[in-house]
Amino acid sequence: MLTPQPTLAIRGPRTLLRQIRESMGAAGPTQAKLGAVVRIIAASMVAEVCSIYLRRASGEMELFATEGLDPEAVHVTQLKPGEGLVGEIMRIGRPLNLLDAASHPAFSYRPETGEDPFHAFLGVPLLRGGRAIGVLVVQNRASRIYAEDDVEDLQIIAMVLAEMVAAGDLLSRDELKDIEIAPHRSERLKGAKFADGLAFGVAVLHEAPVAAGRLLADDVNAEETRLTEAVDSLRAQIDGMIEGHEGLVGPSYDVLEAYRMLAHSRTWNRSLQDAVHSGLTAEAAVERVRSEHRAGIGKARDPYLRERLHDLEDLNDRLLRHLSGDGAKARRLPDNAILVARNLGPADLLEYDRAKLKGLLLEEGSPASHAAIVARAMDIPCVGRLEGLRDRVSEGDPVIVDGESAEAYLRPRPDVVRSINARIEVRAQRRAVFAKLRDVPAITRDGANISLLMNAGLAVDLDILPETGAQGIGLFRTEFQFMVSDALPKFSAQRDLYDHVLSGAGPLGVTFRTLDLGGDKVLPYTQTEREENPALGWRAVRMGLDRPALLRLQLRALIAAARGRPLRIMFPLVAAVDEFRAARALVDREVAWAVRRGRPPPARLEVGAMIEAPALVWHLDALLPLTDFVSVGTNDLLQYLFAADRGNPRVADRYDTLSPPFLRVLREIRDACAAGGTSVSVCGEMAGRPLEAFALIALGYDRLSMPPTGIGPVKQMILSTDREAARRGLTGLLASGSSTVRGEIEALARKIAVDL
Ligand code: PEP
Ligand code: MG
Repeated sequence: MLTPQPTLAIRGPRTLLRQIRESMGAAGPTQAKLGAVVRIIAASMVAEVCSIYLRRASGEMELFATEGLDPEAVHVTQLKPGEGLVGEIMRIGRPLNLLDAASHPAFSYRPETGEDPFHAFLGVPLLRGGRAIGVLVVQNRASRIYAEDDVEDLQIIAMVLAEMVAAGDLLSRDELKDIEIAPHRSERLKGAKFADGLAFGVAVLHEAPVAAGRLLADDVNAEETRLTEAVDSLRAQIDGMIEGHEGLVGPSYDVLEAYRMLAHSRTWNRSLQDAVHSGLTAEAAVERVRSEHRAGIGKARDPYLRERLHDLEDLNDRLLRHLSGDGAKARRLPDNAILVARNLGPADLLEYDRAKLKGLLLEEGSPASHAAIVARAMDIPCVGRLEGLRDRVSEGDPVIVDGESAEAYLRPRPDVVRSINARIEVRAQRRAVFAKLRDVPAITRDGANISLLMNAGLAVDLDILPETGAQGIGLFRTEFQFMVSDALPKFSAQRDLYDHVLSGAGPLGVTFRTLDLGGDKVLPYTQTEREENPALGWRAVRMGLDRPALLRLQLRALIAAARGRPLRIMFPLVAAVDEFRAARALVDREVAWAVRRGRPPPARLEVGAMIEAPALVWHLDALLPLTDFVSVGTNDLLQYLFAADRGNPRVADRYDTLSPPFLRVLREIRDACAAGGTSVSVCGEMAGRPLEAFALIALGYDRLSMPPTGIGPVKQMILSTDREAARRGLTGLLASGSSTVRGEIEALARKIAVDL
């Protein structure tokens, strides 16, 4: 039979939080403080037992303090990962509220604790940034289900405890030594390479955690007012965004609407209000609600739910900015800042001071994500997919970004710092050598003149164009502007960017690629139907032809930006000749439209296709006469030729660009273009790597477009290459039966004294 439910002695955790804060301030050993904390919680919650378990680095859960269980069990009782109810709570990241603990299948009996008589059990995870670092438990003799308010209160207390533990307020540094939340040991994390380079600096957390001292409110009414004001101004901001973009293409409007609905959602608002009402500061309330969402939705595999979590995260970040009163202001950075984030949204990176930002570490993301794209454009080393990163770094920690080996060093030892500084120095010297080559033309030893061009996509890229010595922009990825914006860029914004790029490049010239969206490039503000195989799906020129409004708007902006200057446009992922015909017809139509309105047509208009779909390689005889030029997108061509997703780390590096089949396809394209007299370039990443570029030169290519950092090393290679000798050497290798001839090509380059 159930006994009547005892309610909390004091409604809400406000008083309790105050008591905890007072006991924290008292002098004395930390273990005694922890003991006092569990005593206060037990008394306040009318619980006969209150215990705190924390996770050791080994994954074991250790009893750190208890009121009600046998004190001898403290630091003795340890549960293996996943063991017992405590392990179960860690696993699910949610509270467990049980009438009778022993009858739960996960229950693990520990005689030393003396917990036999206690039936009712309520355990909640100690969450930091959505990750459970321990468990807080209350128990009672009588069988009962704890009231929902009790669960809510205990969660708030758990959050405050988690922050206090992490801040070192409850346990000394020594005691925290092998507890996972205490980030003070040197660690090396392996991730994925998003942008090349090396940097050593101090960690700046993008989502700065609320300081432990700022968790508890001094004046609850004042916090309520702050929260209400911040929510109001957030809503006004979103409403403003919607008004500013009404009349634009549908989906972006829909997504902004979804944002508005979230911002006005009663549940979200009520959870925030409740948390503030219980004694938290407004910032802590946001963190509290965010933690719960992360723990709940974060585990979901469903992409839709995960997407919603992303929206919520964004909303929480915005709200925190409104609370700190600097809605859109850039953060102050130390001189050598390494930005640490779970992930970065559109435009986030551009808000930081480029001069001070030296590196970027991300817990999630992909090499095709916005942050990675912008990091590459800004030439900032970036390593992503670093699991557990955010919980292992504190603001101000010394950190190393090693974009070469895709690693992050947290609080590195002095010998590691010395070695990284030496490598940074070597890179700087190499750069100085390349800088000297800036004005030297890229001509091989036997006189072949190679055009080296730069890939770009953002306005910031233009700043470095003169430094690189590139002979123009061979690929301008127009979708980047769309990807780093909060909403669909309007006609005027597109035209202004293209104008800026054309003016910046001047006589060097620019090849604009029309929107290459879909696949791995999704816009945060448009919702498209989920596809089983996005890389094979409705993307790039397919989207542009099916929904021509967006493509035509872009073409119109390009023609307007040219203002009578020469214009080069190319279409991505053309797979069939008819697609190119249709796309080209749209260009002609827009030019005619401009002329009808008395605007000047481009002085010279060249329209080209990217060769990225293998099918096109066997229809070049039909395609080339229709084009003014073509450019080989080796990133996608490799992906489609080997049926290996370029964004999937498991398969992305499995097949080599320097493999006989890929090189033979490249030779076929180059020979067909030479025969037809069509200008051809290569604009995939391989063009920017000296050894790969060596193979391309040997195959006969003489126009390479690459990331800016590739130009110096590739030029150095070209200056030392005898193209004819390279061609002879490579021809034999194309007949090889091996899956890769990388080693052989390298040996060939060395043999003919190429400077790689
Ligand atoms: C390519 O596919 O090689 C290419 C240059 O385009 P993107 O990397 O933008 O798909
Ligand atoms: Mg491509």
